[in-house]
Amino acid sequence: MELSQGLISAAYILAALLFIFSLSGLSKQETAETGNWYGIVGMAIALIATIADPRVDNVWIILVTMVIGASIGLQLAKKVEMTQMPELVAILHSFVGLAAVLVGFNSYFEMDHSALTNFTNQQQIATNIHLVEVFLGVFIGSVTFTGSIVAFGKLRGIINSSSLMLPHRHKLNLAAGVASFMLMVLFVQQGGGDGALFLMTFIALAFGWHLVASIGGADMPVVVSMLNSYSGWAAAAAGFMLSNDLLIVTGALVGSSGAILSYIMCKAMNRSFISVIAGGFGTDAVVNDDVDYGDYVEINADAVADMLSNAKSVIIAPGYGMAVAQAQYPVYEMTRALKEKGIDIRFAIHPVAGRLPGHMNVLLAEAKVPYDIVLGMEEINDDFAETDVVLVIGANDTVNPSAAEDPTSPIAGMPVLEVWHAKNVVVFKRSMSPGYAGVQNPLFYKDNTKIFFGDAKASCLNILDKL
Ligand code: NDP
Repeated sequence: MELSQGLISAAYILAALLFIFSLSGLSKQETAETGNWYGIVGMAIALIATIADPRVDNVWIILVTMVIGASIGLQLAKKVEMTQMPELVAILHSFVGLAAVLVGFNSYFEMDHSALTNFTNQQQIATNIHLVEVFLGVFIGSVTFTGSIVAFGKLRGIINSSSLMLPHRHKLNLAAGVASFMLMVLFVQQGGGDGALFLMTFIALAFGWHLVASIGGADMPVVVSMLNSYSGWAAAAAGFMLSNDLLIVTGALVGSSGAILSYIMCKAMNRSFISVIAGGFGTDAVVNDDVDYGDYVEINADAVADMLSNAKSVIIAPGYGMAVAQAQYPVYEMTRALKEKGIDIRFAIHPVAGRLPGHMNVLLAEAKVPYDIVLGMEEINDDFAETDVVLVIGANDTVNPSAAEDPTSPIAGMPVLEVWHAKNVVVFKRSMSPGYAGVQNPLFYKDNTKIFFGDAKASCLNILDKL
């Protein structure tokens, strides 16, 4: 089946509109499912219109590839845990980057280089524009490709999450940028040139790797959304090379929404946007493990149950550990039991708790926790001082006082949930190991803090039993 160009353009416009509706739907929990459907339908229309384009030959190759890709995708989607979602997103971004690189090389080698000498002025301008598109597409794609692989490795724990501090790292980044720009000028002036293109690809691959490797643990959420933005621009560049309007529009949507999200997250974490996208600029702080914070005090389920039963107000600060343990269901049961005793109970959600933005909200919604007792950091941070008991369930970096009190800490300046102001704090964790950023947490050694060791789910069930 082949469609006319007019029909294809109409399908592309419809798909682009559906993508915009999808983004708008995904911005609120209540409309997220509809938003997802808009996206799915938009993508289906886009795929059909692309395959049915009369310029496409060898349709069967596309179909076979799609079947293989879709089967792998389905398997992965079925298996992936919520906590592994950011890793999956990071590796998918790397595919977008790789695709942009391949499209760029293909587009370059398909050009008729022998005809370049007999061009009119207008043809010359059009060729130069195309060469810039190819060069930029390959550059952004390469940076996205290796950057996303490093992000995947860091999130999965196969690459150390602390920042790589090469000497003169900012100069190295700057040199890579300047060298790539000069190669682009050479590339366009010479009407192409395999050497310039290959050398830039090599520089960009190393640049992407270094850019993300030099960003430390606690800034990773911003990196993931930043790579999302890069992958959008890589797709838009591929759209220009392929003269595919929908790819340009979609790429620009992803690119700009990723950039806006990165900016919002930087503001929420008190980080400079430029410093994060420039690759850990200003993250000169070092992890200091030698400080002696004193001893910690353990507590058991009976004592926690007693403490909770005698409290008037309780706040739960959940984190990554609650997600790993899938403890949200017993946590909710515990909430109900305490509410029945007339205790005021609420949740405090840090913007980067867990491993992806909104992670805790999704888990709590899944366990049917009512929205009105789930509060954001800014709404609840002043209430800790008047709270009897705070249960820190699998959270660590997001409740670390050194962010507020120690200017030399790698997470200094990041706003945190100030749980230590409460009368009593109980931390649920399995060992004394640090959180994602790899920084010690002085909260565990404070006089009003007790540690309840064990898997968060088992611990909550245990307390529920005593309650
Ligand atoms: P952290 O990753 O700092 O700490 C998790 C805590 O949970 C640890 O203390 C760990 O201790 C404990 N834990 C792990 N498994 C269990 C379990 N089964 N039962 C009980 N406890 C468990 O969590 P936060 O949510 O406080 O902070 C999130 C971190 O992740 C931040 O550094 C953030 O920057 C980063 N990040 C966030 C992203 C986002 O978008 N939200 C994306 C990427 C990174 P122990 O091992 O001793 O049990």
